[in-house]
Amino acid sequence: MAGVFPRVPNKLKRDDPDCGNELPSKALEYRTQKKLVDMASFRKYNITVWKISVNGKPDFIIKENVPISELRKRFGRAVDRKTEVGFHAEMMARDELSKRPEFSKNQIQVLAIFTERAPCRMMCRPMLGHEHPWIPTYAYVTDHSKLDRQTTEEALMMAYGVWKGGQGAEDKTS
Ligand SMILES: [Zn+2]
Repeated sequence: MAGVFPRVPNKLKRDDPDCGNELPSKALEYRTQKKLVDMASFRKYNITVWKISVNGKPDFIIKENVPISELRKRFGRAVDRKTEVGFHAEMMARDELSKRPEFSKNQIQVLAIFTERAPCRMMCRPMLGHEHPWIPTYAYVTDHSKLDRQTTEEALMMAYGVWKGGQGAEDKTS
């Protein structure tokens, strides 16, 4: 999106360096390509961007969550209880990372992790804390980052600079 400059995300660990806007710019580019920039898509999807180095060459892993509604479409209603939350973006990224052939040869280094919504307490935060404890991690929406009565999708759209006031009202009437 030309002329759109995403805000610098929040650090999740105080001692990490500032993020800059490379990672959220990648996420916004991805959203734009996949047509996930409407309010409903901001509500439904979380995007994560992992900056990695593969044999010294920079690369990115960009993933969105697979929401429950899509799992039901793919696998029918009888999805396992454990998948009731859907597959979180951070878990999808972790999966892709581990499938890269260089991963098992220790040729990939994770440099930084951005996720739109702070990693969930149940799964993703423990996973990241265990597997990538020293990697700088950033998010737009944390427990303390939202304004009063602001929804997560509104907060994200404002952070990305794609918020158009009153869009929520339009959504409801259309
Ligand atoms: Zn999670």
